[in-house]
Amino acid sequence: MDDCIFCKIISGEIPSKKLYEDDEILAFHDVSPQAPVHFLLIPKKHIRNIMELGKDDVALTGRMINKAQELAVGQGCGEKGARFVINCKSDGGQTVNHLHIHVLGGRPLDWPPG
Ligand code: 5GP
Ligand code: ZN
Repeated sequence: MDDCIFCKIISGEIPSKKLYEDDEILAFHDVSPQAPVHFLLIPKKHIRNIMELGKDDVALTGRMINKAQELAVGQGCGEKGARFVINCKSDGGQTVNHLHIHVLGGRPLDWPPG
């Protein structure tokens, strides 16, 4: 998608600090970290948000969650845990319209959100 920031990160047009990449998935550190650990996982396919996932995407999203877990452990969150977040559309606080999982850790996080 031409004007999508995350598609530009996938293509390399916008630089990022990559954590992991394969044919379907990219993980990179958030440019504005909200915790000592804060990275994002995105599908390389441009899917706008979780509402637009189809049944065909089950394998992809399953892989993304497994990879999020693996990378969170690699970032030192295995013992104390982390928060895995998917914001969706305006009420969900989504600002980039390309599906992404936030992984935040390295400090205790408040709940519920404000
Ligand atoms: P959202 O609010 O849509 O759930 O989260 C979007 C996230 O993308 C934000 O945490 C924001 O800091 C991050 N972000 C926005 N633009 C860029 C960018 O160009 N590079 C990186 N690495 N992260 C970005
Ligand atoms: Zn995109």
